[in-house]
Amino acid sequence: MAKEEYAIHIPIQQYHPNELTDIERIWVDEAIAAAKKAYAPYSRFQVGAAVVLADGQIVTGSNQENAAYPSGLCAERVALFYAGARYPDIPVKAIVIVACRDGIIQKPTAPCGACRQVMLETERRYRHQIQIILYGSDTVYEIASAESLLPLAFDADLRSNEQFFAINN
Ligand SMILES: [Zn+2]
Repeated sequence: MAKEEYAIHIPIQQYHPNELTDIERIWVDEAIAAAKKAYAPYSRFQVGAAVVLADGQIVTGSNQENAAYPSGLCAERVALFYAGARYPDIPVKAIVIVACRDGIIQKPTAPCGACRQVMLETERRYRHQIQIILYGSDTVYEIASAESLLPLAFDADLRSNEQFFAINN
């Protein structure tokens, strides 16, 4: 096979917070309220996540740190795992992520790699795309699917990368 270069296109909508819909504003407010409950004495970086289920219920989480650093967990996974534990039969349709440090961070805060992996598996598990809203006080990023945030993702099913290439090329 000859060497070949290809580019992966990641569609992201960028807009001002006042363009959020009324329902999205409610989700954002839930994420902000969750961030204020973070236990983040080490980073002082408070993150809130609002996971929206397909039936409209909202499950929130915040980062939970620990003196033994790796024992802590990100807000996104706290919320996603709680949703999976409490409502295992209901798909996740959206997640809002907000970070605060002396007020809400102006630019959108993106999830770490491990949280992207969990978001992607949640999406595949329920065969339901997850709308991702990364909220900053002056800019919002919106991504239509967890798949977009983790191209070339690890998957126990080796066919999936072939499918990814088939769709994107
Ligand atoms: Zn994370």
